[in-house]
Amino acid sequence: MEERPFSDISYEQFLNEEKLMGSRCKKCGALFVPPRSICIKCYSSEMEWAKMEGKGKLAAFTCIAVGPPFMIQEGYDRKHPYCSGVVELEEGVRVVARIEEVNTTKPETIKIGNPLTVEFLHRGEGENLRTFLAFK
Ligand SMILES: [Zn+2]
Repeated sequence: MEERPFSDISYEQFLNEEKLMGSRCKKCGALFVPPRSICIKCYSSEMEWAKMEGKGKLAAFTCIAVGPPFMIQEGYDRKHPYCSGVVELEEGVRVVARIEEVNTTKPETIKIGNPLTVEFLHRGEGENLRTFLAFK
């Protein structure tokens, strides 16, 4: 199906195309998001692409008030923290992503187990285009 290498670069290309992709081991069925080229469970290198539905639930999160420069550029600071979370996908894999549309000034209102849907945040243009994985 897809001939791309199982790498972070392919993963980011897929994100640009609004696809959340992982690799599945053909031998033991283990799933990896972002993709791995070698299975860490059975050491097989026979992988295939697997598309995630993009639905999951919040497993853990943290609100970050002092972020990296590109987040500060987006307007996040001490008064406007952003939320970074771990999302457990329906496929059973956990991914780290930005959590949108939550009240980061009141972290107690953010609930573990909340159902979430994937969102792709496109930033920059041309060669600098990057897409961030987010859920809301
Ligand atoms: Zn395997």
